[in-house]
Amino acid sequence: MCTSFSPGNDPSEDASELGARTPQDGPATTGRRALLGGALGSAAALALTAATSSSARAAEPTTTLAVRSHRPDARTKAVLVGTAGGPIWRQAAGRRGISTVIEVEGARYLVDAGHGSAAGLFASGLIGPTDGKNDLTAFRAGFITHLHSDHVTDLATFLVQGFIAGGLGTMRAPFTVWGPGDRGALPRPFPPGRPAPEAFNPSNPTPGTASTVTQLLAAYAADVNDRMFDAGSPRIDQVIVGKDIALPATVAANLTGPPPGMRPFAVYEDDRVAVRATLVDHGQMVPSYAFRFDSDHGSLVISGDTTLTPNLLELADGCDVLLHEVIDYDTIVASINALSVPEPVKEAFRNHMFGAHTTEKQLAELLASIELRTLVLHHLVPGAIDRGGWARVAQRLDRVSRATVLVGEDGMTVGAG
Ligand SMILES: [Zn+2]
Ligand SMILES: [Zn+2]
Repeated sequence: MCTSFSPGNDPSEDASELGARTPQDGPATTGRRALLGGALGSAAALALTAATSSSARAAEPTTTLAVRSHRPDARTKAVLVGTAGGPIWRQAAGRRGISTVIEVEGARYLVDAGHGSAAGLFASGLIGPTDGKNDLTAFRAGFITHLHSDHVTDLATFLVQGFIAGGLGTMRAPFTVWGPGDRGALPRPFPPGRPAPEAFNPSNPTPGTASTVTQLLAAYAADVNDRMFDAGSPRIDQVIVGKDIALPATVAANLTGPPPGMRPFAVYEDDRVAVRATLVDHGQMVPSYAFRFDSDHGSLVISGDTTLTPNLLELADGCDVLLHEVIDYDTIVASINALSVPEPVKEAFRNHMFGAHTTEKQLAELLASIELRTLVLHHLVPGAIDRGGWARVAQRLDRVSRATVLVGEDGMTVGAG
């Protein structure tokens, strides 16, 4: 979602970067420069640095629990490949971009592919090498919650490397990436009343998952054709495809407000797992999905990026494990308060941020509303915080809930059954 109204900002960037910068990121020239650019740039950058630097450097490492898996021997489980939200390199927080692998009796399903996640798959032991070669043949499908860049920047690496050296997909059963379709209209300028900028790539300004995958693969045409002509490889687009998730005929995505209330609907099924989705509320990034994976042994839900929404409550009720995004309220508020803009604009920013993401307080509401066994905080924004770190947040939520509440860490395995 758009977080800036300054000329030159990228309205497609994820608002979740707000408050996520660290001093190591350097000047605000990339990533959240959207929020930070132009008239807002220096003030916001300073605010974000002030809000995150001490925690990123010191507080979190001393307070976060060591990476500890939870029921790792379960037959149905999630491997948290990356746990950071926002398109920021979070070396200080020790987190890769958001990405999760659901594993059901050895069959694997990729959910999102944020920055660093392809390397994270290797680090997590999910990509070979086995007998001297990589092996991705256990991966049966991919799922993208939404098309903010922090969820897809390593998708090309996963797909192309998987095609070349990992055995990803076959002519008989292509590896399919399921995700949101084309929303069909540009977002409204934010804040309200700002003149609309000229769209980037106007002939295809809001590509869905099918178009995104096609374009990513096309960028590697020189390599693919060389391998086809010189090494006998198949066409990459015959073994790897992207598909737009089709909403039920009775549901229309709402481009200008919260998603319509709906029942979870089927997206994918094989002999190991059934995957259902629902629309979640992530501001103007429409459609955005949460996914539920049900196997014979257990159930896992991934919220995607969203504020608290009834659709997700229905999807997650009764699940074994819910992986849910979270942003730190105090960090975001401090960042916005430090902006050199009029108070009404700050208020608009607050509404914008908190209308698209979930705070600790909202997670407490969630825990009071539905039944689940384990809540895992992931897609953490920022990756490290003061005041006891994310571990303290998890402890507070754990105390008010019958569920076990954990902080997601890169490389962690969480079993569902
Ligand atoms: Zn997002
Ligand atoms: Zn995100």
